[in-house]
Order: sequence, then structure tokens, then C-alpha cells
Amino acid sequence: MLFDDNPPPKLIGIARLAASSGVLEAKRKVEYLELETRRFIGRGSGRMRSIYTVNPYRGCEFGCKYCYARYAHEFMELRDPELFERKIYAKQFRSAAFRDELRRLKSGDTVWIGTATDPYQPAERRFNVTRGMLEAFAEQGGLDIGITTKSDLVARDAVLMTRVARRSRIRVHLTITTLDERLARLLEPLVPRPALRLAAVAKLAEAGIPVSVLAHPVMPLINDSEASLDRVCQAAARHGATSFSAAPLFLMPCAYKVFLPFLERSFPHLVRRYRERFEKSPYLKGHYPEMIAERVEKIRTRHKMERRREPEWPAPPFQEDQLELFPQLAKAPGSSSLDEDATLHRKVIRL
Ligand code: SF4
Repeated sequence: MLFDDNPPPKLIGIARLAASSGVLEAKRKVEYLELETRRFIGRGSGRMRSIYTVNPYRGCEFGCKYCYARYAHEFMELRDPELFERKIYAKQFRSAAFRDELRRLKSGDTVWIGTATDPYQPAERRFNVTRGMLEAFAEQGGLDIGITTKSDLVARDAVLMTRVARRSRIRVHLTITTLDERLARLLEPLVPRPALRLAAVAKLAEAGIPVSVLAHPVMPLINDSEASLDRVCQAAARHGATSFSAAPLFLMPCAYKVFLPFLERSFPHLVRRYRERFEKSPYLKGHYPEMIAERVEKIRTRHKMERRREPEWPAPPFQEDQLELFPQLAKAPGSSSLDEDATLHRKVIRL
């Protein structure tokens, strides 16, 4: 554990705001809280610097075992990685403030919604923060908007997205890691079934919204076979998606802490191999990434799918408010990778 031997750090910035948030509602084991936000639109870092990011929620109830965004809760001094899926912060949406921020963007700017948590997770059914933001996007022209989600709830906003599309480019990226429902349930316990996600692809495509299907992350010996990836791509094409991507798993320390116990329970025969591969680095190195890239290219060609236009995996890390609240981060040179950023974030929280 990173912090066990240290005295509790003084809460600053987002951690202080999180600690003082009011409970909105408790449902099952999940607690919803409201989080004040000074800025709704942030920026990616490093090579993703030109991209603006929007994340309506912090934490994600979907609870994917490989989720790399769990460290976002460490900003708020929530060190147990499982709290990421049980303590969900809905950003207090202030429509006028959001519209002001939007007006400061330039024509042609790229905005990515859902870089760190799912914008259509269950909380959206009640709080409608994503929907409120899309209403504002519909009034603003000239942007290049991408939405990343694993939820079929995204199809609820198909009509609204057609309004956005009159003035901006908009594309939805729906993640489907496998068509095997049992495997999906193990890996992504509360995510809607793959069949529901495919139905959402079809609804969006029928409405004229371009859809990419992502099979991220590709996990060695779990969902990486050519047959498995091919099934996802083929189904995506049949349901109207126009592009397909898949890239290998990476496991940051906070994700590793959840993924390894999961493997021990569900895939004990793989534990040794995963330990060997991920103990030294969060990224898979060597031949494997190249092999997956070639496999995906072959599958894409077979089904006449395009490569995803937007920046590739991994997505820009959770930056937005932190850059403002922790100015040290904004100045940190070369913070171009997720693990570097996570290390810097932890340092800042220790101050
Ligand atoms: S849907 Fe995305 S943000 Fe939510 S738990 Fe899964 S990987 Fe994490």
C-alpha cells in the first residue's frame, strides 16, 4: 500500500471538496454524492494536450475489473480502489457556467466526453448531467465531439445527438470487449449485456450518428483470440458501426490491485503469467502488442471497417480540475503517460 505508513495528508483541492460533498442518494451499496466543480472542461496531457476532456461523473458503478481510472478517486483520498465503483460523484451541473466554457473553445477543437468514467453509467439515469451537457453542445457549432461509453443508455440521446450533429461532428465509441455474456459479466459486472450494447449501436447508426466499436482492452488468453475479436467486429459491422479498434490491456497499480484478485478467483491458471508480465510495468511489451495490432488490422480489413479516427488507447488521463487545483501538475514536464501522471498526482496529494 502506498500510503499506509504516512500520516493522513491534509486534504486540499478536490480531496477537500469531495470530503465535504453532500450525499445525494444511497442505492444498494452505492453512494451518490454531489461534487462542486470549478471547471467542467479540461485538457488531456502530453501527446493528448490538444484534446479537451469532459467527465460528468467521478467514479463508475460499472466496476470493470481492468478499469484504469480507479486512481482518479485517489485524488480525493479514497484509497480503496473498490470505492471507485461504490462512491459516485455527480458533478453539480451549472448550465450557464458550462455554456461559458464551451464558448471559449475554438472551431475545430476536439472534445472527448468520458475519458475517465462512463458518461452513461447508471447515475446518468437520475442526474442527467451528460444530457444537460449535450443540450449545450447542440447550441455550439464547429466542434469535433467523441463520446466513449459501455452503456446502451447512450441510445437515449440519439435524437439529441442529431441536433448536435447539425453544427458539430459527433461520434460515439461503444466498448464491447467480448460477445460472450458470461465472460462479460465476469469482467464488467454491471455493464449492460453485449447484445444491448449492439442494439444501441444499431439505434445510433439508424439515427445517422457514426459509431465506432472498441474491444479495449484485449486481455491475453481471455478475449484476445482472433475468433473472439472477429465476432465483435463482425457484429459491430452488422449493427451499423463504421470503425473497430482493439488494444492490449494495461494495468496501472490501482487496477492491478483489483485485477489480480479477480484473476485468482476466475482465471487462477493465468495468475503466474499475468504477474510475470505486469509486475514490472503496467504495459505489455515486446511481440504481443504488435501481434494484436496485426490481428486487429486483418479483422478490420475482413469486415471493411475503418480504424478509429480519434486518438488511440489509452485515453487521456483524468486531468481537468486537478490541473487547476494542483498547479504543480500543470507545470510538471513530460507527464505524458498514465503511470507518470498517477505518480505525480500521488505526490501532490502527499503535500
Ligand atoms: S465503464 Fe469505464 S470507467 Fe466505468 S468501470 Fe468500466 S472501464 Fe472504468
